[in-house]
Amino acid sequence: MGPEKQQDFNQEQRAEFARQFRRHQRFQIFILVGGILLYFVHMVYALSADIWDESWGYGLLPLFGGAAMYWNSAAKYNRCPACDHFFNRGLPTRTRKMCPACGSQLID
Ligand SMILES: [Zn+2]
Repeated sequence: MGPEKQQDFNQEQRAEFARQFRRHQRFQIFILVGGILLYFVHMVYALSADIWDESWGYGLLPLFGGAAMYWNSAAKYNRCPACDHFFNRGLPTRTRKMCPACGSQLID
């Protein structure tokens, strides 16, 4: 992962990267919030129906499922297109447009 991996992307490519990052980030937030929401929906239902003791385990499914899909998506897509550096949640932003590993400018 040396600086020799730095690439000059044109404006069109940078716009496409920005679109992709936004798309995957939206999906990751959606899936995480969705999992938490489903957990609470189940909790409210199970408590009001008085079946919490036998069904609390099911409530964890969307929580863990959402988390697993979140990490799967992040591990696959939150990466630098030039050097494959893993951003985790620190995706390129308006104030930090360069990849911290290779220095390629990824978005405008
Ligand atoms: Zn990079």
